[in-house]
Amino acid sequence: MHEQVVIIGAGQAGLSVAQSLRENAHAGSITLIGDEELAPYQRPPLSKKFLAGELTDERLLLKPLAFFEKQAIDLRLGKAVEGINCATGVVQVDGASISFDKLVLTTGTRPRSLSLPGGNLPNIHVLRAVADVKRLRPLLAPGRRLVIIGGGYIGLEVAAVAQTLGVSVTVIEAQDRVMARVVAAPVSAFYEDVHRARGVTLVLGRGIAGLERDAAGLAAVTCDQVRYCADLVLVAVGAVPNMELAAAAGLKTDDGIVVDAQGRTSDPRVFAAGDCTRFPSALYGRTLRLESVQNAIDQAKVVGATLTGADVRYNPVPWFWSDQYDVKLQIVGLSHGHTHHVVRGDPATRSFSVFYFDGPRLIAVDSINRPRDHMLARRFIGAEVSGDVDQLASESSAWESAFGP
Ligand code: FAD
Repeated sequence: MHEQVVIIGAGQAGLSVAQSLRENAHAGSITLIGDEELAPYQRPPLSKKFLAGELTDERLLLKPLAFFEKQAIDLRLGKAVEGINCATGVVQVDGASISFDKLVLTTGTRPRSLSLPGGNLPNIHVLRAVADVKRLRPLLAPGRRLVIIGGGYIGLEVAAVAQTLGVSVTVIEAQDRVMARVVAAPVSAFYEDVHRARGVTLVLGRGIAGLERDAAGLAAVTCDQVRYCADLVLVAVGAVPNMELAAAAGLKTDDGIVVDAQGRTSDPRVFAAGDCTRFPSALYGRTLRLESVQNAIDQAKVVGATLTGADVRYNPVPWFWSDQYDVKLQIVGLSHGHTHHVVRGDPATRSFSVFYFDGPRLIAVDSINRPRDHMLARRFIGAEVSGDVDQLASESSAWESAFGP
C-alpha cells in the first residue's frame, strides 16, 4: 500500500513512528512536521548534561539529517500545523494544505503555567525545549539566585545542575516533600538530604501566592507571605498535553488525546502516540497518560506497526529515570495507589530500592544507584508477581527469591 502518512510533532514519538513505518516496509510517503527549528532531539539532557553545558546541539539529535533523506521522510521543521480536517483528510500548515490517508498526532506536552499575579514578569523561565535552555543557561552564573517553583524531577534536576555551577538555589514545593506525586516518603527524604547537603534551600509545604519585581530583582512570595528573592525563577510545576488541535478536529480528548491500545483515536484514520495520549493499560486496569521516553518510543512502534497492518497492542511496563548530581533514580511501574512499600538496602549507603505493592502484587520499584534491581524489576512487574514482604526487606537473600521460583 502506498498510503500518505502525515505526522504532526517532530519529537521522540514522531520520529519513532516514522522510523517504525519504514522498518515495517511502509512504501508510501511520510511527512513529519514539527514547529521547532531543530530536527527531532532528546529532551532528557535538557535538565541534565545539556543544561550543564556538557553536550552540544548535535549530540542532542536523535538522528543525523542524512537519516531523513535516506529513509525518504519529508521532514518539515519550524512549521506549526494550524488545523486538521478529518473528513477531507487534510492538515493546514503555513497557509498550505497537506493531504493524508493516515494522520498521527505526536504533539507532546507543554509546561503548565502559573496563573498567578506576576506570572508573566521577565526572567521567569520554563524548561521544555532547547530554546528554553538557551535562554536559561547563560544566566546560571556563580552567585546568582535561582528560585525553582516545583520540587518534581525537572525542578530538582535543574537545582542539581545550577547548584553545581555555583548558583544559589531555592526550591519551593507545595507538597510537604519532594517528588511526592511519584515516590514514597523514604525516597523523598533521601533526595531532600542530598540536595540540602549540597547547599540547596528546600521550602516544603508552601504554595506560591505570586511573583513580584522591585529594584532588588524578583521575589517569589509564598501563601504565608514569606518572600524569596531571586535573579531568576524557573516554574517547573508539570506539563499539560498539546491536544487542542485534536479537540478542534472533533477527536475525543480527556487530559490527553484518547486512543485505544493500538494508538487509534476516535477517528479510525487518525492515530496518536507519546506524551499527548491517554491510553488503556491492561497491566494497571485504567487509562494512563505518561510522560517518558519509554512511552514515546514504545507506543510509537505500536502505531507504526498497526499502520502497516500488524496486529499488536500497547501494554507497557512503564519506566523512567532521573539524574541528580551523582545519584541515578530508576523507576519501573507506577506506584500510584500502592497499599504498602518495602525498603531494601540502607539509604545512608546511597544505594537502595523501594518496592511498592497493591495488596500482594508488586506494582512498582524505585531504585537508587541500583541498576540491577531496576532491570530485574522490569521483568517481575510485567509478570504481575506477588512477593514475600519480610524476605524482600532482608538483604541476606537475593530479592528474586521473595517472589517464588
Ligand atoms: P515531544 O518530545 O514534546 O515532541 C512533541 C513535538 O511536537 C514538540 O516538538 C512540539 O513542539 C511539537 N508540536 C506540538 N504541536 C505542534 C503543532 N501543532 N505543529 C507542529 N509541531 C507541534 N523522560 C524520561 O523518560 N527520562 C528523563 O530523564 C526525562 N527527562 C526530561 C527532562 C526534560 C527537561 C523534559 C522536558 C522532559 C523529560 N522527559 C524525560 C520526558 C520526555 O522527554 C518526553 O516524555 C518525550 O520527549 C515525549 O516525546 P513526544 O514525542 O511525545 O513529545
